[in-house]
Amino acid sequence: MEIEIATIGGYEAVGRQMTAVRAGNDVVIFDMGLNLSKVLIHDNVETERMHSLDLIDMGAIPDDRVMSELEGDVKAIVPTHGHLDHIGAISKLAHRYDAPIVATPYTIELVKGQLEGEQKFGVDNDLVTMSGGESMEIGDGVELEFVHVTHSIIDAINPVLHTPEGAIVYGLDKRIDHDPVLEDPFDMKRFREIGREGEGVLCYIEDTTNAVKKGRTPSESIARHHLRDTLKSMEDYTGGIVATTFSSHISRVSSLVEFAKEIGRQPILLGRSMEHYSGAAERMGYVDFPDNLGMFGHRKSVDRAFKRIMNEGKGNFLPIVTGHQGEPRAMLTRMGRGETPFELEDGDKVIFSARIIPEPTNEGQRYQAEQLLQMQGARIYDEIHVSGHLSQEGHYQMLDALQPQNVIPAHQSMEGYAPYVELAEGMGYDVGRDLHVTRNGNRIQLVE
Ligand SMILES: [Zn+2]
Repeated sequence: MEIEIATIGGYEAVGRQMTAVRAGNDVVIFDMGLNLSKVLIHDNVETERMHSLDLIDMGAIPDDRVMSELEGDVKAIVPTHGHLDHIGAISKLAHRYDAPIVATPYTIELVKGQLEGEQKFGVDNDLVTMSGGESMEIGDGVELEFVHVTHSIIDAINPVLHTPEGAIVYGLDKRIDHDPVLEDPFDMKRFREIGREGEGVLCYIEDTTNAVKKGRTPSESIARHHLRDTLKSMEDYTGGIVATTFSSHISRVSSLVEFAKEIGRQPILLGRSMEHYSGAAERMGYVDFPDNLGMFGHRKSVDRAFKRIMNEGKGNFLPIVTGHQGEPRAMLTRMGRGETPFELEDGDKVIFSARIIPEPTNEGQRYQAEQLLQMQGARIYDEIHVSGHLSQEGHYQMLDALQPQNVIPAHQSMEGYAPYVELAEGMGYDVGRDLHVTRNGNRIQLVE
């Protein structure tokens, strides 16, 4: 059976992930993501109204024109998890393919949110849910399996396409977490089995985001302990405490909510995306928030909540807000500019349960936001966080478990690939032979 991989997006920078695998006449697409930084540098761009080709020209969504060179039929579109760089282009591209979107329940829920906001295209692909540990038939001798992984969003999987020539493992995005906060541990046992079964692994496509980092990425439970210790240190403080984290990081949000209660404060989630991600997780039963948890998205209701906090005393509440990257329109930045009813005073605490995404726009915006907060006397607690991506020893473990015949590094720039290439070369792989460093828009024929 002919096996071919099209590296469509996310092979030159982090963002706008998209890869297609062809096994004989059956094609499966993995991820259809957005590169948000390419959108945000333009003022007042409303992607909801924009045409795909304009967004492709901006570098915001994958250039899927290479798909016309692939023979066979697309049988499924498979987003691996709900981060925007993996699902954000579905509303712009999926309608071009007569295929269902297959993902885990929480990811499907977030895809639905994307499709509801779309104003240019009518996307009516079937939405099919499949959980980690489950499989479905794609074609003759071709099967799709979801392996449960741990990442900075719940319900993430690595899809595996089983073919008569061996398995194709699509390894974006994950860390190996044996003690995660809201869900099951990483399914290493299944990856080891896949490495030994049948024809073994023909190809492994890997998330190389953190390949430059030595050692292994710690568990989410480490960030949870760090967070609890930090909040405990503030237990006697009677003024304002504000926390921010990734809205989509439900495990982290739930830890913040829990520890707010422990120090005698009422947690309140504020901001549109906080309400969006946490609301979906609560509705679907992934998390059990306390009954009195306030959750407000719209500007007016957020301002009302802030007024209530000021009236009843800042010391009774822990607002958990958007703005961990210093995004100009996010809640925390507005608080820094004094645009909300919440008044910061000398000694008030601001907790960033996040790391700055290393990208010049974020770095500048985050710097500005922190300056604005500090000018009002806020004390900053930074980097109470662990990464969602594998470091070097995690990469070593995955290659050791899967023993893939071919490896394709992804989710990075050329510079970012270098440490992964060195690691893989140290394990016997060779660039140009079985280690395929590639760019967007290429096709790699693995079996002719
Ligand atoms: Zn991700």
